[in-house]
Amino acid sequence: MADTEARPDPVRVGIRNLEKRFSEDVVALQNINLDVREGEFVSLVGPSGCGKSTLLRLVAELDQPTSGTVQRPGVAETPGSIGFVFQDAHLLPWRSVRRNVELLLELQDVAADERRKRATEALARVGLDGFEDAYPRQLSGGMKMRVSLARTLVLDPQVFLLDEPFGALDEITREKLNDDLLRLAGASRLTTLFVTHSVTEAVYLSDRVVVISARPGQIVDEISVPFDERQRSLRSAPEFISICAAVTDTLYRGMAEQ
Ligand code: ADP
Ligand code: MG
Repeated sequence: MADTEARPDPVRVGIRNLEKRFSEDVVALQNINLDVREGEFVSLVGPSGCGKSTLLRLVAELDQPTSGTVQRPGVAETPGSIGFVFQDAHLLPWRSVRRNVELLLELQDVAADERRKRATEALARVGLDGFEDAYPRQLSGGMKMRVSLARTLVLDPQVFLLDEPFGALDEITREKLNDDLLRLAGASRLTTLFVTHSVTEAVYLSDRVVVISARPGQIVDEISVPFDERQRSLRSAPEFISICAAVTDTLYRGMAEQ
């Protein structure tokens, strides 16, 4: 019945006919059309150099498209509406963990006691309570990445962009961070666009996996991931493995078409 059907969630990132050309010869992205709805977790996978980082940068307004449009929350009107997490945590070594997390709030002139409160909360959300006064050199790679996540979460972004955030971590740490990110994204209904070259990670985390071809990067296919419950044992479930195989086949197809 129409009146009991759930209305689709609003589109938070709408990408239309996007093209990015760096020069005559270098067309990074072509004919990209993609919607990410509120609360959705979408991963981008594709071979190195296919334009994944470029696409995130265009969504974040860090670069401009050659043609096409990107609809997203306005960064100028609402500072912090887009959160960006990079592979390297880029922490300032002379600042404590708490003061690293407060950094962007300082730039927004948020009052000191409010900054402190929000940083403490964000650190608790990523499992770092008790480490507020530590310095980056005292932290493991996984903990640094948690600080980086907290530094972005503290802004309460409407759209969360992550560019291979766990690529440099060992497998166990990465799996743990995957579970924490799932919990965070679910609890806060984060709208997330996540870049990875790990098919398993993409399928484990996402509602939808978008496969991009080798340069010029184009969307080869989108694969929906149906699981409600996600926990470690899912990675060895036959249905999970078969979705990973479908994503991998699509990746190979996108490389062969070039
Ligand atoms: P990915 O993140 O998928 O590895 P990138 O988005 O970093 O790929 O790059 C896509 C392509 O665009 C690559 O061929 C890269 O060399 C090129 N590229 C990226 N940024 C620039 C730039 N600022 N100037 C020229 N070429 C660039
Ligand atoms: Mg990249």
